Amino acid sequence: MRLPRLQPAQPEARKGAGDLMAWISELIGRGRFLSVELWPPRSPEAERRLEQVLLELAPLAPAFTSITYGAGGSTRERTHELVVRLREEGKTTPMAHLVCAAHSRAELVTILERYRDAGVENILAIRGDPPLDSTQALAPGELEHAVDLAALAKDVGPFCVAVAAHPGGHPDSPDLRTDRRWLAEKMQVADFAITQFFFELADYLRLVDDLAKLGVDKLVVPGIMPITNPRTVAKMAQLSGTEVPRRIAERIEGVADLPDEVRKIGVEVAVELGAGLLESGAQGIHLYTMNQAAATLEIAASLGLGGEPERSGR
Ligand SMILES: Cc1cc2nc3c(=O)[nH]c(=O)nc-3n(C[C@H](O)[C@H](O)[C@H](O)COP(=O)(O)OP(=O)(O)OC[C@H]3O[C@@H](n4cnc5c(N)ncnc54)[C@H](O)[C@@H]3O)c2cc1C
Repeated sequence: MRLPRLQPAQPEARKGAGDLMAWISELIGRGRFLSVELWPPRSPEAERRLEQVLLELAPLAPAFTSITYGAGGSTRERTHELVVRLREEGKTTPMAHLVCAAHSRAELVTILERYRDAGVENILAIRGDPPLDSTQALAPGELEHAVDLAALAKDVGPFCVAVAAHPGGHPDSPDLRTDRRWLAEKMQVADFAITQFFFELADYLRLVDDLAKLGVDKLVVPGIMPITNPRTVAKMAQLSGTEVPRRIAERIEGVADLPDEVRKIGVEVAVELGAGLLESGAQGIHLYTMNQAAATLEIAASLGLGGEPERSGR
C-alpha cells in the first residue's frame, strides 16, 4: 500500500503571519526530510551533553527540531530558552512542545504570548499525562484535551500547530475507532501531526488510511525511536501503550548487557522501519534522539536523509 500524497498547510491558512514565518508544515511539504526531538537540559552536565549533540547533529540540518516540555510544567523556562535560542541561531526551525495538563488556561495564554512575541512560529500542542493520583475535576473553562490547546494557540497567534497521533491508539481510549475520531477532530484544528514512536509499518499505514477515510489528508510525520537502552524503551512503551514486537524484544533481550550490540540492533530496526516508510510514500521521519546523536547519525546516513530538503517532484 502506498500513502496518498499528503497536503502541506495552504498559504492562506497563515494570512497575516508576516514574512519571517517559517511554518514547519510548509517546510516539510517540499520534499524528503529528517527532523529530531531533543530535551531541554536539567543539569550543567546535561547542558554540556546537549551542546555536543547539537554540534554533532548540525551537519544533518534537521528540517525542524522539537523541544519537549516537562509533564508537570517543570521545563517551562528551559523549553522556552532553548526554543528561542535555536530560532535566533537560525540553523534549524524549532518547535516548542506545550502541555495543557500542566497549566491553567491563563498560564497557557501567557506562555503562548511569550512565544509569539519572541517570533516562535511552531507549537506542538499536547495534553501531557496528568499525575496518576490526580482526581481533581477540571474547573470550568480549563483545557482538558490537546485539541483545546491547539485551538487556543490558533487564537493567540499565527502559529503552525502540530499535534500528537498514536498509531496503535492512545492507552486512555476505549477503542481504536474512538481514538481515531478524536484525532481526526484534533487534526481539523492543527496543521500536521507527529506520531508516537511505533515499530510496525502497518500501524502507520493504517493510521493514515483511517484518517483519510475520516476526511483528513494533512501530513502525519512518523516518529521513530531507535532502541538504545532496553529498560528506557520498555518503560516508555508501557507509558505510551506502544507494543514492542516479540521479534524485536527477543533480539534485544539476547544482547541486553552489551550496549553496543543493543544500539546496533536498535539502529537496524529503525532503518528497516524508516526505509519501509519512505518506500510507502512518507515524506520524512522524525527521530526521538533521547539527546544522543550517534544512533540518529547512523540512521540518517543509512536512509540518505539529512541536509536541505529535496525539491524533487516525488
Ligand atoms: C510527538 C509527541 C510528542 C510528545 N511530547 C511530550 C512532551 O513534550 N511532554 C509530555 O509530557 N508528553 C509528551 N508526549 C506524550 C503525550 O503527552 C501523551 O501521549 C498524552 O497521554 C496524550 O497526549 P495527546 O496530546 O495525544 O492527548 P489528547 O489528544 O488530549 O488525547 C488523549 C486521550 O483523550 C482522547 N481525546 C482526545 N480528544 C478528546 C476529546 N475532545 N474528548 C474526549 N476524549 C478525547 C484521545 O482519544 C486519547 O485517548 C508526546 C507525545 C507525542 C506523540
